[in-house]
Amino acid sequence: MSIQSTPDLNPGDVAAPGTPGAGEDICDACAGRGTLADGKPCPQCGGSGRVMEGIGGG
Ligand SMILES: [Zn+2]
Repeated sequence: MSIQSTPDLNPGDVAAPGTPGAGEDICDACAGRGTLADGKPCPQCGGSGRVMEGIGGG
């Protein structure tokens, strides 16, 4: 096991960027805003407002 170049994945990401069959989608936790109601960065998407989700077969 030598995972040195693991892409930055957020808890809300179910697939690594570029993974076939996966695509970006709006983060449910923050509704795509990237921040929560208290103004803190959304932990699910890391503040990006978007997460990687599997498309089809998923
Ligand atoms: Zn979010």
